[in-house]
Order: sequence, then structure tokens, then C-alpha cells
Amino acid sequence: MKTVRTKKSLSRLSRSWHEAGQSVALVPTMGYLHEGHLSLVRLARKKADRVVVSVFVNPTQFGPNEDFAKYPRDEKRDFALLAAEGVDAVFAPTPQEMYGADATVRVVESSLSKTMCGAFRPIHFSGVMTVVLKLFNASRCDVAVFGEKDAQQLSVIRRMVRDLDVPVKIVGAPLVREADGLARSSRNVYLSEGERARALSLSAGLDKAREDWLRGNESAARAVATVRKAIGKKADKIDYVVAVDPDTLEPVAKLERGTLVAVAAWFGSTRLIDNHFLRR
Ligand code: AMP
Repeated sequence: MKTVRTKKSLSRLSRSWHEAGQSVALVPTMGYLHEGHLSLVRLARKKADRVVVSVFVNPTQFGPNEDFAKYPRDEKRDFALLAAEGVDAVFAPTPQEMYGADATVRVVESSLSKTMCGAFRPIHFSGVMTVVLKLFNASRCDVAVFGEKDAQQLSVIRRMVRDLDVPVKIVGAPLVREADGLARSSRNVYLSEGERARALSLSAGLDKAREDWLRGNESAARAVATVRKAIGKKADKIDYVVAVDPDTLEPVAKLERGTLVAVAAWFGSTRLIDNHFLRR
């Protein structure tokens, strides 16, 4: 596995693969890897001849009072995990390498990125789209894999690619959970034992809403109420519970196959997200 630190050397490497007739898949991550990330890597392997994983805690997607400085990092462990997966290259630039000091351009989206997490994290998706577009350009990838864990991010990226004619195929990968149902997240390390136990109410609530739908409930309002009730006082604060169309992120009245039921809530000082795409 090659370790690449500059955009230029990543572009050069990718060009050499393309010249040899090989396609390239990119898996963007912020590191501190877990099984969720590794499942994306395995899917990327099936989608292209070469796999690049980026490990970059992107400063522009964190608000001023968010956890950029304390976001968990362990480059050595990450690289070992990726090498064991047969990844071709890991791209781990510094913020200075990624962004020029006087950069003034950002990608802005005016609808999907404003609801749900966007309502609570106003600059987040602009930072995400900007870094993702830059990673696409540096890696010259043909395919990029994103997790359904970050369902809104996936929708926003799909919209960016559609609206800006970005020549990259976007692949979504299923959400990976712990054995007890907690959605895997690098941020789970922040949780105390008690907070972690309370956080299981997210997946429990979503499971209940899904089972209810499987039994015939078509009311989105009822699904939202079911999730809210299961969380109850277990969360310290609920940012939102919604049932939305995954393409537009607009609330739906009637649940359908593919409807996204999503939640964001706080446990102590940790904000967690979770979701179900309704499927049989
Ligand atoms: P992050 O490092 O948190 O920015 O995540 C990098 C990529 O991994 C994103 O596309 C996430 O959606 C995806 N990801 C993170 N956690 C999970 C999970 N539990 N299941 C599936 N994908 C995940």
C-alpha cells in the first residue's frame, strides 16, 4: 500500500493506473477507522481495479464550537487496517496541503443541505462538498463510495454530482452496526458507559418504526412519534426525527419503500445520528 501525502502525487498515481486501463475507486474518510469504513473499502474493491482511501479530518466541515481539535485520530492503526484490506493507496494530506491559505471558493447547495443536520450545522455540508470535490479532482476517481450512515451527506453529494456534472459514479453502502444495534461511528469513543446504553434508544426506536411499517403503518407522523417515544428522556436533547424522501430530503406524509427515517440526538456532549431506509 502506498502512502501519499500530496495531491500532485495522488493525481500522478491515478493517471498511471488509468493509462494501464485500470479504474479507480475512492473512499473518503476522516480516519479512526472501524468496520463501517472497512465495509466501504470492501465494496469499493468490487467496483474498481484500484482503491484509494483518504484519511483527512477536514477542518472546513466543523463549526467553531464543534469537535475538530479533539476528533479521534490514529494514523498508524488506520494505515495497518487499510493495508490488511489490500488498499492500493492511502491519501493522508495535511490541511495546508489540502487547502491554500487564501482559498476563497466553496461549494454551496441551497436546499438539501439546509434541513436536518444542516439546520444545526450551517457550514457543515458546504465544507463536506468542497473537500469531496477536491478529493475527486486530486484522485481522478471513477467511483466513490459513501455510507448510508450519513444519509444526508450521501444525498447532498449525489445532488452535487448531478448539478455540477461531476464525472464520478456515487455508490451508497449499507449502515454497519455494533452487535447491540448502535450505529458504528468514530464518535462512539466519546460516550460514557451510561450514555452508550441510553444511545441504544436510537436504533431501538428506528427498529420499532420499521416493524410498524412492515405491519402496515403508512403514516410518517406516526413513525416519527414512535421514534421520539422510544428515545423519550434517554437522550439529553433530540435535534430532529424526520421521515423524508431520500432524493429531496423533503418530509413525506406517507411512508413508502425507500423512505428515510432519520434522527440526530445528544448523549452528554456527543451528538449521534442514525437512520433506516425503509426496506423489506
Ligand atoms: P467518516 O470517517 O465518519 O467521515 O466516515 C467516512 C465514510 O464512512 C462516510 O461515507 C460514512 O458514511 C461512512 N461510515 C461511517 N460510519 C459508518 C457505518 N457505521 N456504516 C456504514 N458506513 C459508515
